[in-house]
Parts: sequence; C-alpha cells; structure tokens
Amino acid sequence: MEFSNKEIRRKLQGKIFEVITETADKMGLETYVIGGYVRDIFLNRPSKDIDVVCVGSGVALAQAVAERLKKKKFLTVFKTYGTAQIKYGEVEVEFVGARKESYTRDSRNPIVEDGTLQDDQNRRDFTINALALCLNKDRYGTLIDPFNGLQDMEALRICTPLNPDITFSDDPLRMMRAVRFASQLGFFVDPDTFDAIERNRERIHIISQERIVDELNKIVLSPAPSVGFDLLEKTGLLNIILPELTALKGIETKVGIGHKDNFAHTLKVLDNIAKKTDNLWLRWAAVFHDIAKPATKRFDPKLGWTFHNHNYVGEKMIPNIFKRMKFPLNEKMKYVQKMVSLHMRPSMLSDEGITDSAIRRLLFDAGDDIDDLMTLCEADITSKNPEKVRKYLNNFQIVRQKLKDIEEKDRIRNFQPPISGEDIMQIFNLTPGREVGQLKTSIKDAILDGIIPNEYDAAYLYLLKKGETMGLIKPDKNAFKN
Ligand code: ATP
Ligand code: MG
Repeated sequence: MEFSNKEIRRKLQGKIFEVITETADKMGLETYVIGGYVRDIFLNRPSKDIDVVCVGSGVALAQAVAERLKKKKFLTVFKTYGTAQIKYGEVEVEFVGARKESYTRDSRNPIVEDGTLQDDQNRRDFTINALALCLNKDRYGTLIDPFNGLQDMEALRICTPLNPDITFSDDPLRMMRAVRFASQLGFFVDPDTFDAIERNRERIHIISQERIVDELNKIVLSPAPSVGFDLLEKTGLLNIILPELTALKGIETKVGIGHKDNFAHTLKVLDNIAKKTDNLWLRWAAVFHDIAKPATKRFDPKLGWTFHNHNYVGEKMIPNIFKRMKFPLNEKMKYVQKMVSLHMRPSMLSDEGITDSAIRRLLFDAGDDIDDLMTLCEADITSKNPEKVRKYLNNFQIVRQKLKDIEEKDRIRNFQPPISGEDIMQIFNLTPGREVGQLKTSIKDAILDGIIPNEYDAAYLYLLKKGETMGLIKPDKNAFKN
C-alpha cells in the first residue's frame, strides 16, 4: 500500500480542502483530515464524511471556513461537543479541536480536554482509523500514522491502537464497530483484540439499542455478512444481542441421524442473498427465515428430524424480536413476517407438481413481494450436492415462469375480490358475522381455484348458489342489479 505524497495530494484535491488549508494557515492552526476518510483513501473506497481535526478551536476554524466558502447557512455548531459541521454539497465536513479523553466506568461519554494530535489519535478506535493527513500548506498530504495503520490495512487487520481491554471497556460500542469493519472490509480481527472483545462482551449492556442496531444493519448490508455474524457469535456478543440466532447452532444426533447446523445454514443463506439484493429487510428475512427451528424441532422415528410449522412459528416470533431489538414495528416488520411465513411455499410447490390453483394462491398471499420471496427461496438452497442444486434451481425457474404466465392471465398479485363484504351483507340482508366471512372466502377460493373468473357477474352468480346451499334467503330477483 505504497502511496507517494504526490498521489495523496491528488486524492486531497477540491475546493473544500483548498479553503481549509488557506484558512487554517491564516489562523496559524495545525490542521489534519483524520479517521475514516483517510482510511478510505488508502482502501480506495468512496467516502462522504470528512473529519477535520485542528490543534485549537475546531469551531472557530469551521466558522472561518464557512465564511470563506460563503456557506454560513450550512454551518451547524454543536456547542456541548465543541464540534461544528459544514454541509458542502453531498459532503459533510466535521470540525473538532484535537482532544484527550478519559472515561468513567458506567458511561461511554468521556471527560474531554484539549490535547495534541497524538492525544487525538490515541482516542481512536482502531489503528486503521487513526491515520491523519496534514492539510497545512508546508506539510500538505504528510501522513501521520503512529500505530502503523497502513501496515494493518495491508494485512487486513482490525486492531486497537492501545490496550484493547481499555479501548473496549471505555466505549463498548467499539466492539460492534470492530466486527462491523471486519465484515464491511473483509478484514480479520487481530487475536489480542478479539480476545478483549470476548472478555469485555458484557459491557455491551451500557450501549443503547439504537447504536447496536445501526452497527448490525451495517453488518447485514456488508458484502459477506457471515463474516460479521460469525465474529459476533464467536466473541459471545450474539448470545447477548440476539440469542434466538445462537440457538440455531449445533447438530443433534439420534440413532445415527443428525440434522444440519441451522446457524451455519442461515449464514450461508444470508451470504447467498447478499449477492442478489441490497434490500436490508430482505436480508433480515434471510437471517430470520429459520428462527423457529429450535422451537419446533422433534425427532420422529419414521421421519427423522422435523421442524413442522417452523415458518408459522417463526412469523409469530418476529414481533417480540423486533420490539426488543427496537427494529421498526411497521410495514417492514410485516414484510419480514410475510417472508418468514411463506419461505417454504415455492419449494413445496415444485415438489408437488405445480397446479395453476397453487400458483394463484401463492401470488395472492405474496402479492407484490413475490419476486423477493423467490429470491429468498433461491438463496435458501445450500446443498453441497451440485446435482441437487441444479435440480432445485431448475424447479424454481419453472415456478417463476408459471408465476409470470398466471399473473399475466389472471392478475392475481393485487387481487381484490370483486364482491366485498358490504355487498354480501346487502345482497343477503345480513349483519356482520361468520356467514359473511364464509361467503367472502368461498368467492376468493373459487377464483383462486379457477372455478370462476375474477369478474363481478360470475362471482355474483356463484355467491347466490353458495348462499342457497347455506340456507340463506335468496334476494328478490329485481332488487339487485349490478
Ligand atoms: P463509517 O463512516 O463508514 O461509519 P468511520 O470510521 O468513518 O466509518 P465514523 O463514525 O464516521 O466512522 O467516525 C469517524 C472516525 O472517528 C473513525 O474513523 C474513528 O477514528 C473515530 N471514531 C468514531 N467512533 C469512534 C469510537 N466509538 N471510538 C473511537 N473512535 C471513534
Ligand atoms: Mg465516517
């Protein structure tokens, strides 16, 4: 990872850097760009937020820079934190004075005092996040890398700059960040750093759920999320944060029959789906698709291991998990529930021989999420036997084609029964109750089973016949016209 000073200067081009340099020089402030932005320069990753540190008042520097840029209305000062931010187009630039931090045991909020650049680098979480590039003209682009972060980047290593036990005990969120960076960047966690996470894992309790979820979402959205979940599991963090997932781990054997390790399987499904979609909630659906397997596991002497109804039980587990995790309890949750509940349907279909009626029912139940459901089902194929994988994928291709054909023909995806409950009550002079529901369902079933087309007239006639068999009073012939 050899970058010449010339290359670094080239990466640090742009109006914003020019103005910071001029302003800082004029004010006589030693100034650096630091942290994630510098890391991402060396890793060739795009990065939107720029962190600037000066030895002196970061707020004063930000004010002067904003003035010079004529962007005063894009300046926000956070007095309590002694920081300021300028929004410059797409970019957010954060200014802070170099600081020294010390922590108390029960909070991740440190006591802060002014410090040197070195003090400021000491408070950073990982060696790869502690690099600074000077912005003053006479040393422009000079790299200050006191902990050999560059070497660690080359070795793909996540490692704390100082004693990891202190780093993690001071601010336990850093444990989640270590795992998240490993997962995002495809790095490994240095053994000493790893061991310290394991030792300090219980400290995670002082971190707010929202921050934990932020990091978890970043892990789920990383290129191979299994890296992060594996680390969370091995350090013991996962058992604290999401014990339902660690419960999937392990293989039980009875009379020589074992079942697959559902944790390993889940992570494989998650990695598979990560290659196909960046939809966060579809990825979470992959995480949770088999969540009820431990709760539904039975050993049947004839069938071997079974997990009957694990999809429905899983669907029911989701609200409690979402509530505890402080995930959204809105349509995102409903979507994950739907995915968990339906995740077996397409494969059951392709086993049974695919009838139009079964396809219509699947379209009806999945609605607009049918494509996402198929993506999940395909990701759920984790067999090591290439012959089987080919067979399953081929079956799903057939299901997909059938779904397309039937949807074109019958428009079931956003199907609304042509006769509403209100209509039914009026036609038979009924009050709300069981019979109305029965009649409604019978129309829906008749349409999905292909007995009648999805049209008002056909449904009306069908309804009259059905009502008759239920002993309902037939309406006056002339009273209803459609
Ligand atoms: P990303 O922006 O992708 O989340 P980042 O490393 O830039 O990654 P930020 O939260 O933007 O993360 O923080 C910027 C820098 O501030 C980090 O690179 C690191 O030097 C420092 N930092 C952030 N959070 C912490 C923390 N909890 N403990 C110590 N240093 C931190
Ligand atoms: Mg950042």
